[in-house]
Amino acid sequence: MGSNVGDRVSTFDRALQLMKNSGVNITKHACLYETAPAYVTDQPRFLNSAVRGTTRLGPHELLKKLKEIEKNIGRTDGIRYGPRPIDLDILLYGNCQIDSDTLIVPHERIHERPFVLAPLVDLLGTSAADGIETSWHSLSKCSGGLFELWHKIGGESLIGTEGIKRVLPIGNRLLDWCERTLVMGVLNLTPDSFSDGGKFQQVEAAISQAKLLISDGADIIDIGAQSTRPFAKRLSPTEELERLVPVLDAIAKIPEMEGKLISVDTFYAEVAMEAVKRGTHMINDVSGGQLDPTILEVVAELGVPYVTMHMRGDPSTMQSEQNLQYGDICKEIASELYARVREAELSGIPLWRIVLDPGIGFSKKSEQNHEVIMGLDFIRREMGNLSIGASHVPILLGPSRKRFLGEICNRSNPVDRDVATVAAVTAGILNGANIIRVHNVGYGVDAAKVSDALLKVRR
Ligand code: ADP
Ligand code: MG
Repeated sequence: MGSNVGDRVSTFDRALQLMKNSGVNITKHACLYETAPAYVTDQPRFLNSAVRGTTRLGPHELLKKLKEIEKNIGRTDGIRYGPRPIDLDILLYGNCQIDSDTLIVPHERIHERPFVLAPLVDLLGTSAADGIETSWHSLSKCSGGLFELWHKIGGESLIGTEGIKRVLPIGNRLLDWCERTLVMGVLNLTPDSFSDGGKFQQVEAAISQAKLLISDGADIIDIGAQSTRPFAKRLSPTEELERLVPVLDAIAKIPEMEGKLISVDTFYAEVAMEAVKRGTHMINDVSGGQLDPTILEVVAELGVPYVTMHMRGDPSTMQSEQNLQYGDICKEIASELYARVREAELSGIPLWRIVLDPGIGFSKKSEQNHEVIMGLDFIRREMGNLSIGASHVPILLGPSRKRFLGEICNRSNPVDRDVATVAAVTAGILNGANIIRVHNVGYGVDAAKVSDALLKVRR
């Protein structure tokens, strides 16, 4: 998929929808890439990705459908390699080799295009065993695998350069989340929340806290109206919305929010839908779709980024002896999170809108949290054994003020754990976190800046 005219992200969404309507069942997505134009360089930057699916359409029927979709979306015959609202090419079709007047499969120019190789590696690659699906080996005209081709032209080192950036579409922009660590500030509207509970119930207080988070440098404000601490009493969606909506409406209006992002922490589809209607840019679901089975489809429809968090059980059962049993915790988090990713993708949330959170403090004992923070990069690599694409999504880490920090530092009051939090998020960023979720944003921002500076010189 390629696009460099109009609202490229919406065009991709529309193309996916039209493909589904034409009998293509999409099962997997690559990450999303913004790329410099190739061949004809004097034109806007492209958005590129690739998807995988199943269909009963034959290859030529598929090509015909794709051309209809291109036309439907507004593509007209322009110059070769010139600006276009959408380009849909067939890269591979099972194990078929096709060489007709209208269709050549595998696509002829896969080998020379980073904007095709990167998404194709996301889709087909695993870092396990031989590294790539066998179908590629039998089809490739070049010697060597897809990985070798990708490495030969630069591979992962190309990502983040002007030529090709991996991006997260959010609000009306493309977030280059590899460039620096983002800071998400916590705004709790819960009287029973463990850390700042009860303080910001009133709308006024919530707004001034939001303004403080912004002036301290938050990129995202994460608003939660339901406490998910262990054994918290479960609110209904209606109760949650009663707390959330007045604050959300007020915050969405304040001028300080210009250019900033709002996230809503909820596991309910109904809350997610109402929140996005009222200006929320992303949904943060601690259950990864496990507590309300309809949330995945609703988020897919809403077209916003979705944070899927690792937890076993729910807040009342997550600390049960059984849910704390792990062999290799990082390995198990990777495979359990990957199952959530698959479910989300099959429900229509493209991989390029997924953010992963290993769930510090959720179905984890103290020392297990240490393992997770130090194991983020390992979790990523484990994920890569299952799918390269999934190993390339942003990781969110939320250790802020949690009990394991209190235990290490002997601080029983959560508000006294901000220095400990700085240490934890610093370690997290150095190990691969891309977004940190913190209560004290001022400290978090400095920790992120120092960590980012250190990462730039990592050998
Ligand atoms: P681009 O090369 O930029 O995709 P077009 O979309 O205009 O340019 O494609 C030109 C022609 O290439 C199409 O009309 C189509 O018949 C032909 N073609 C050959 N192989 C393929 C393929 N694998 N996927 C899509 N189009 C193909
Ligand atoms: Mg084409």
